[in-house]
Amino acid sequence: MLTLKARGVLVDGSLWELREELYLTRRAIQYVIDALWELDKLPSINQAHQIFYKMLRKQGFRAHQCKQAYKYALGIVRSAKKNKGRKPVLRKLSARLDKYDAVVDLENQVVVIKLRNKTFKIKLLHRRNYIRKFMGRKWYEVIISIDRQGRIWVSIPFRWIYEPYSPKRLISLDINLKKVVVYDGRSVKRIDTRFVEALYLKIHAERVQKKYSRMWRHNKRILNRIRGLHRRSRNIVIDWSRKFAKYFVFKAKRTGSAIVLEDLEKLWFNVSQKSSTLANRLSRFAYCKLQLAIVTKAIEYNIPVIYVDPRGTSTLCPKCGAKLSYTHRLAICGNCGFIADRDTVGTMNVHLRGLRGMWGSLGSPLNAPAMNDETRGSGRTIDEPMTVHIKSYTSI
Ligand SMILES: [Zn+2]
Repeated sequence: MLTLKARGVLVDGSLWELREELYLTRRAIQYVIDALWELDKLPSINQAHQIFYKMLRKQGFRAHQCKQAYKYALGIVRSAKKNKGRKPVLRKLSARLDKYDAVVDLENQVVVIKLRNKTFKIKLLHRRNYIRKFMGRKWYEVIISIDRQGRIWVSIPFRWIYEPYSPKRLISLDINLKKVVVYDGRSVKRIDTRFVEALYLKIHAERVQKKYSRMWRHNKRILNRIRGLHRRSRNIVIDWSRKFAKYFVFKAKRTGSAIVLEDLEKLWFNVSQKSSTLANRLSRFAYCKLQLAIVTKAIEYNIPVIYVDPRGTSTLCPKCGAKLSYTHRLAICGNCGFIADRDTVGTMNVHLRGLRGMWGSLGSPLNAPAMNDETRGSGRTIDEPMTVHIKSYTSI
């Protein structure tokens, strides 16, 4: 599934009325959530229909709106109970509509929705090229929302058939706050991120918060300033991630490569308990957004994605597998003389694990024999072009 997301503007109907409808929808769903929350055992969808349908219909909701309401409420109550969370409270003003209550006309970039007895026509504000990608595909639902600033947003998940090609090569990356290091099996490329910039904005926001520790919650001006800083920080991360994802995925496509990503669940910040510093929280957020952007683009262009365990990727020599010793960020292998900086080691090892995963899935043994003398090369420094071929890795 790939989702079309666009800002919208009303061409038919009033914003005030749309807001009112979304408000009523939210209240109705919240009512269903509250009722479900009290039950020891959650009802089936049919039972939920028996319980809530008439009541919702009486409030003027359309038949399919009712169905969407209890289906959605059931889903979030179920996941909240499963995660042992608190009772979900809806904050966003939004409504979900299925094909009976919405018409999507991408040719004219228009969406028409029906909420209770009212009709709204919304023009999608987005580039033609972006909209065109979704034409002729099946969509599941239309989600309409209004944000704090009173802007309308439309998102429509479309069916997308993902058929990854079989890769000829691999392309991997190592992420840290300052840099992303890309390795395609031949050369290493470093690209500056904008995550540090985003971090500074967060630090700034925290400083403002500390300075006005008593009043920031109640002072609208200060609150807006803090929110503004967080928003700018978030936008920097998201914008940069999208840009990088585009570059990275097109590079993979051009070279017929698969993308190797680190399994975020196993990354240090999820394993370690002491990860609540601002930098760590931002790292987590930024890495998630970056991966999400990459995977979304990869699905769009049928690029295969391989996930590898990222643990210990900077501790072992990518050439001979011996333990590396570090001087600051420079790694040196006492066994084969390999020299590289930490990020390069990281991305090469991720690459390697990707290869092993790929060969593993093709039936070759996962634990290949140790490297012999003839495949051991001389040490390289980061200034020399990195010409380590895949061939020499297959025997590790
Ligand atoms: Zn080595």
